[in-house]
Amino acid sequence: MAKIVITEFMDEDAVAELRRSFDVVYDPVLVDRPTDLLAQAINAQALIVRNRTQVSAELLSHLPALRVVGRLGVGLDNIDLNATQARNITVIPATGANALAVAEYVITSALILLRGAFLSSAQVAQGLWPRTALSSGLEINSKQLGLIGFGSIGQLTAKLAQALGVSVVAYDPNIPADNPLWVESNVQPVTFESLLANSDIISLHVPLVDATYHLISEKEFSLIKSTAVLINTARGGIVDENALAEALKTGQLTGAALDVFEQEPLPANSALAGVPNLLLTPHIAGVSRESNQRVSHLIATKVAEALLSEQSEQGL
Ligand code: NAD
Repeated sequence: MAKIVITEFMDEDAVAELRRSFDVVYDPVLVDRPTDLLAQAINAQALIVRNRTQVSAELLSHLPALRVVGRLGVGLDNIDLNATQARNITVIPATGANALAVAEYVITSALILLRGAFLSSAQVAQGLWPRTALSSGLEINSKQLGLIGFGSIGQLTAKLAQALGVSVVAYDPNIPADNPLWVESNVQPVTFESLLANSDIISLHVPLVDATYHLISEKEFSLIKSTAVLINTARGGIVDENALAEALKTGQLTGAALDVFEQEPLPANSALAGVPNLLLTPHIAGVSRESNQRVSHLIATKVAEALLSEQSEQGL
């Protein structure tokens, strides 16, 4: 019976589904005990991970039986794809399965940041009444959303935003201007500079690769409108955190929401501590109860299929 090791949290029903046909080791905190992880995975045919398990060339070199890596999410930057390719190991992301959770997070953050009125609970409970200070918030209707990256999450975010009367533009150099997707989605393709200069909400939906590292830094903040808000649910490192902190402190930018960081968790001396109009969440934009179920069942099904087809190819 093929062995599957699951190193981070997964929906229990999906784990039970896998147990029916495979030898399954499920420990949602195995990722935090690398020695135990290695001991369990050493004879495994499949590994199922989220984004914290580093599937490095070094780890792979100790797992001779490994044939499949299931990723409970979509970013593959924690998996050494050159090393998996060299060994012909199948890597399976949960493409699209958590897109709605991220898209809803983007819209929620945009509404909160533009309106600027939802962080007054402590003051109001204390008997203060900051009504004047909180009376100049903005509505989202008729604003422009600029999406950097127009893949599955960008496209879904566009639909939700349009339902609120937002006009949407996007920059994605991999989708040519004559691609019917632009007309079908009613989203206008624009240049990177035009998006920065004219958007009221800027949201990032690109992978972290060399070309997107510090894509938004000091120079880009100088182009963005001071009334705009920036949302990064993509990957840490795409926004330069020092430059963002400076832009918010000096009023060069109105607000920002970050779900992902260059170092997760943040280091003690992070430039983001105490910065105004900044919403911080611990890499949960894609994780809701529903998306966990969708992601887990998709990966359980696809990993099982991949292992069974490997077995039938080998005539086992
Ligand atoms: P996707 O692959 O469907 O889309 C990415 C898009 O980015 C593609 O259309 C690609 O052409 C475009 N792109 C690549 N390089 C670009 C560049 N330099 N400039 C502009 N566009 C560029 O991916 P997706 O499923 O939409 O996910 C987007 C990002 O969201 C990924 O980084 C993923 O890791 C991240 N993510 C985060 C969470 C979370 O919980 N915070 C959850 C899911 C996904």
